[in-house]
Formats: sequence, structure tokens, C-alpha cells
Amino acid sequence: MSTDSPRVVVATRNAKKLEEMHRILVQHLPSVTVLGLDDVTPFDEPVEDEPTFAGNALLKARASVAATGLPAIADDSGLCVDALNGMPGVLSARWSGPPKSDARNNELLLAQLADVPDERRGAHFVCAVAFVRPDGHELVVEGRMDGAVVREVRGAGGFGYDVLFVADERPDVTTAELAREEKDAISHRGRALREIAPQVAALLG
Ligand code: IMP
Repeated sequence: MSTDSPRVVVATRNAKKLEEMHRILVQHLPSVTVLGLDDVTPFDEPVEDEPTFAGNALLKARASVAATGLPAIADDSGLCVDALNGMPGVLSARWSGPPKSDARNNELLLAQLADVPDERRGAHFVCAVAFVRPDGHELVVEGRMDGAVVREVRGAGGFGYDVLFVADERPDVTTAELAREEKDAISHRGRALREIAPQVAALLG
């Protein structure tokens, strides 16, 4: 790739999420150099206090652009559980309180759904991906993966609530038991990134 290929910063400090976003983006933006936050001068990340996934994704992408002067992509995602009226939603990462812990979040979710029968354990993941250009041009798209919350943790892949989630398209395994490419093909993040990638390519020139 030439050194003057367009560059975009993926603005997330979540290493597992960055790995997913990076591997999907490089496939769909072959002529773009995809940077992580470790490749740019460190800056303070904003407090994610918007009520929507799209609002928080925009907040993160705008903060990265303001600090680096480079175009940025950021996502905000979470699990919406039917029996909990859509919670934890935008609070998914910090559902069980600070410090952030996937293990404690999963324990709390299992406890909250302990008395909920199988037919009412429906849930879906949402991922909003925002792209912001230094000239202020902005885009946001959303992807979704429908499924259900199981009764015990299973699998070692993925991150977050993957050990407790079975997707409707693969009800035999949790998303933590899927191969990376299998999860990307059906995931909220894969869907949103594949939708936004051609638009980002066009806007980066
Ligand atoms: P964010 O960094 O505020 O977007 O936090 C997203 C949180 O939602 C993560 O910390 C996970 O708890 C959860 N989450 C989002 N996407 C996934 C996924 O693909 N698998 C499992 N958990 C996810």
C-alpha cells in the first residue's frame, strides 16, 4: 500500500472490539490504512453519556477527529434484553458497575434472568458505527443480531456477553463458540461495518 493512501482511525480502546473492527474493515477498505488509537497521539476519550448507540458512536468519532485531525470510525454497541425492557442497552459495558468487568456483567445478567423461562429470553445486539471526517461530514449506520440469552456461560471466543448469547441464525452455539469469520458474517458489528465501508471508501476519496 502506498504511504499516501487515505488513513482512518478506529477510535476504540476495547482491544477485542478493535480486533473485530480492524479485521472486517481491512477486508472492505483494502486501499485505506486503518489505524488504532495506539498509532496516534493519546487523547482523553469522552464520557459516553448519550442515550442512544448512534449518539455515543458519534461522540467517540468526533473526539478522535478533534484530537488527531484524521477521519475516524467509532462504534457503540450493546445487548438489549426483551425481559429487561431493552436493558442493559447503552449501559452494557458497565452494567454491573465499575471497574468494567465482562465476568461480573454476565453473572448479573444470569441472576436477573434466573426466573425468566426459555421462551421469554429473547435479546438482540445493536452496533452503531459512526464515520466523521475533519471537514464535519458525518455518517452513522446500525447493525443488529437477534437471538436469546442462555442459562450458563459457554465458549472462549469473542468478548462481553458472547458467552451467554445464541444468535437466531446459529442457535446451536453461543457467539463465543463461533469461529471469528462466522461471528463477523452474522454479527451486529459485521453488518454495520460492511454497510458503512463502501460509503467511507467514497468519502475518503
Ligand atoms: P461500548 O464500548 O460502550 O460500545 O461497549 C459495548 C459493550 O456491549 C461491551 O463491553 C459488551 O459488554 C457488549 N457488547 C457489544 N458488542 C458485543 C459483542 O459482539 N459480543 C458481546 N458483547 C458485546
